[in-house]
Amino acid sequence: MNPRIDISLNKLKHNTKVISDMCKEKGIQIAAVTKAFCGIPEIAQVFIDGGAKYLADSRIENLKKLNNIPVEKIMLRLPMISQAKETAEYADISLNSEIETIIALNDATEKLNKVHKIILMVDLGDLREGFFDNKELESALLILKDLKNIKVVGIGSNLTCYGGVIPNKTNLGKLVEYGETIERVLDTTLEIISGGNSSSIYLLEEDRIPERINNLRLGESLLLGRESAYGNFITNTYNDAFRLVAEIIEIKNKPSMPIGEIGMDAFGNTPIFEDKGIRKRAILAIGRQDIGSNSIEPVDEKIEVIGASSDHLIIDITDCNISYKVGDEITFNIGYGALLSLMTSEYIHKNIISY
Ligand SMILES: *Cc1c(COP(=O)(O)O)cnc(C)c1O
Repeated sequence: MNPRIDISLNKLKHNTKVISDMCKEKGIQIAAVTKAFCGIPEIAQVFIDGGAKYLADSRIENLKKLNNIPVEKIMLRLPMISQAKETAEYADISLNSEIETIIALNDATEKLNKVHKIILMVDLGDLREGFFDNKELESALLILKDLKNIKVVGIGSNLTCYGGVIPNKTNLGKLVEYGETIERVLDTTLEIISGGNSSSIYLLEEDRIPERINNLRLGESLLLGRESAYGNFITNTYNDAFRLVAEIIEIKNKPSMPIGEIGMDAFGNTPIFEDKGIRKRAILAIGRQDIGSNSIEPVDEKIEVIGASSDHLIIDITDCNISYKVGDEITFNIGYGALLSLMTSEYIHKNIISY
């Protein structure tokens, strides 16, 4: 079935094993992040088989799908008050920075006769989620002390997501200090000090991660073998565990300049063309509805992607050594943005392969 995404479970397991071994050497456990593949349980299981301790996702719908895998699940996005009940039901741990939400979680958890664990998020400068003000954190802690069904088990931070701030010894050192403040005020020992996402991997490789950090929440690095601070590939991992395959529906020789007055394209932009004369072009049955505006990279390096509309992708195959025919398949390597879009598109067949 085309278009499709081929998903290699073996390559994903290998990536997880390599990265989790690297983490364990430094006393770090992995929370494997399942949101980029919409929480498909078969793929999530491979993370656990490869050595991850927790599964984590931003959406309750995905955590529900993972309910039968017997490991602790973490809700990554700050819970909505309107989803406090589902969060308490399907997540063992959630990340939090608002006392109103924590109180709602406490109430929901009490009704379920459970204890819900939380990781308090602090903002170290990337300006997405997290307590930013020390006083606000301290007054939240005083209220938290009296919540019977909530247990503070950790502290965490998120970097390189909104502001692009790179984790280092200084900002992660501050995270550890915040953690020690919480331990003092709540008279507890935190189980989890979560030092970020795939952008923290480079610190591991350079052995510069502060001592008490014992958890990372990893998505992209496990899936695509790539750290996200500098975009470097991680040694001995695969970056093609996910491959996009689309089918050729037309091949024709056409001019490289459209004929007629140029107005707006389907997305409100005025396109600009370079005249390269007559070129051999192919149309593939996939489009922006599936890949968004993300770039994808043909495995055949002689192919050039020249444009896309909602459901057509146009490629230039003039320089290819392979003589493509209508009905042939073209394979692409993809990055994180395209992976997110493709896995979310209901038009893309998810072809899970075990090798
Ligand atoms: C998505 C997400 C992650 C995983 O990020 P990667 O860059 O894919 O490793 C970690 N933490 C939080 C809070 C997230 O939302």
